[in-house]
Amino acid sequence: MKPKAEAQEYDVVVVGGGNAGLCAALSAREHGARVLLVEKAGAAERGGNSYFTAGAFRFPHRGLADIREIIPDLSAGELAAVELAPYREEEFFDDVMHLSEYLSDPDLVELLVREAQPTVRWMRDLGVRWMLMLGRQAFKVGDQFRFWGGLALEVVGGGRGLVDRLFELADKAGVEVRYATKAVRLLLDERGRVRGLVVKGPEAFEEIRAPAVVLAAGGFEANAEMRARYLGPGWELAKVRGTRHNTGDAIRMALEVGAQPYGHWSGCHAVAWDSNAPPTGDRRVGDLFQKHSYPLGIVVNVKGERFLDEGADFRNYTYARYGREILRQPQRAAFQIFDQKTVALLREEYRIREITKAEADTIETLARKLAIDPEGLARTVREFNAAVQAGEFNPAILDGKGTRGITPPKSNWAQRLDSPPYVGYGVTCGITFTFGGLKINTRAQVLDTEDRPIPGLYAAGELVGGLFYHNYPGGAGLMAGAVFGKIAGDHAARAGAAPFGEG
Ligand SMILES: Cc1cc2nc3c(=O)[nH]c(=O)nc-3n(C[C@H](O)[C@H](O)[C@H](O)COP(=O)(O)OP(=O)(O)OC[C@H]3O[C@@H](n4cnc5c(N)ncnc54)[C@H](O)[C@@H]3O)c2cc1C
Repeated sequence: MKPKAEAQEYDVVVVGGGNAGLCAALSAREHGARVLLVEKAGAAERGGNSYFTAGAFRFPHRGLADIREIIPDLSAGELAAVELAPYREEEFFDDVMHLSEYLSDPDLVELLVREAQPTVRWMRDLGVRWMLMLGRQAFKVGDQFRFWGGLALEVVGGGRGLVDRLFELADKAGVEVRYATKAVRLLLDERGRVRGLVVKGPEAFEEIRAPAVVLAAGGFEANAEMRARYLGPGWELAKVRGTRHNTGDAIRMALEVGAQPYGHWSGCHAVAWDSNAPPTGDRRVGDLFQKHSYPLGIVVNVKGERFLDEGADFRNYTYARYGREILRQPQRAAFQIFDQKTVALLREEYRIREITKAEADTIETLARKLAIDPEGLARTVREFNAAVQAGEFNPAILDGKGTRGITPPKSNWAQRLDSPPYVGYGVTCGITFTFGGLKINTRAQVLDTEDRPIPGLYAAGELVGGLFYHNYPGGAGLMAGAVFGKIAGDHAARAGAAPFGEG
């Protein structure tokens, strides 16, 4: 491979055009840097995993007082119809730490928590518009929408709206974007400082010179070989929820120059995903292959046996680890079963055309239609119904209406399945993103194996390790990408303005 003769010069090169990369590019531009963003996908497939999201961001707030400032056009009527408890910084911190079994890097989590709301406001000031997540994160109780899981806002237009807006803003700000251009290798000088990178464009390899590079190219969720190697046997068979382009390239490039691997390399975010979904994300359907109303019913495998606590906590705190449980089941298959008491409460994603669904007047017929063992399912439902305890069902709170005497228990929202027709949905494991990655400091500088910054190298987004272990609170991925993207862009611009000044 012989790079082209004349190399181009930028202050900052950002690798990856998802939420994290675009925030980094915008932040670097704000500081006056000449910024190039290289994106492996063509323009028609741009936006990475961020495109596939609901655009939901988790950040601490004081309730509607803060929300009113972030969405100034909310009417008095809309505000009156909403009940939103404050979500304090300590709660956000505790949510991440508790779900990670207290393994998350406290410095990174603290920074995420502290900078989350200022970053949302920064995005608002740039021109990103927000709305309340009434459909997915609130239940209607009487005339009021009551939010239940620490997650209140999404970007107007969801993931697609977010990505389109950020690209538009980047274009206006003067960020140069090159599509179908894949970062291949980092270039370091003899003192170990970044001096650019090699990319493979549509026609040729090319060397690009820049004193600062921000890596924001996602995790390795779309790389079957790396999934099997790091997540373990069977993971090569999981479906990928989002982009096919997040194949761990930037993690590999950084490790090649001595970056430190960090975080939960055998861990990932994976959910219940429609059995009928394609091997990687479908941009038309987006995240609607997910099936997240399982707290309202029961979940069984092909033998008709339950294998997880559907009501252990609100969906936001269990969904990211239940994909792994499904992958462990025979044929990587599971079925969510509901009756008519809860069907009307199912989220919008249960009403797509591509769904794997069956309906029947008896449990045995439903089982046959879904290829579940009929006797096994009938036995499970009998035992489950007998174990349901009395109490008032309320999906907007942890209602404590659980089961007694069965394993696993259902800890909240347990209701007898006794109102036909019964409805069942077939799901498998869909991987969202991987948790392991690079170690960064609070300036988003990539650290080497001796914990020293690699001068000129920054990282943000999915490929940052140490933030999430085992589990994850919904809406934290985009928020972390934006917070660390903004910080990375800021510091990379300074390094770019005074080459090699920041070490
Ligand atoms: C279906 C789905 C729904 C989700 N919903 C939410 C949600 O509502 N809220 C939330 O917080 N999180 C959500 N997530 C998680 C969220 O998508 C990620 O946490 C976040 O988008 C990651 O942003 P990123 O910029 O790091 O990566 P991406 O947005 O994936 O961007 C990485 C980019 O890098 C590019 N790239 C890869 N390799 C190279 C290379 N060698 N050279 C150049 N470019 C390269 C890719 O093509 C891609 O465009 C969801 C994820 C999925 C898949």
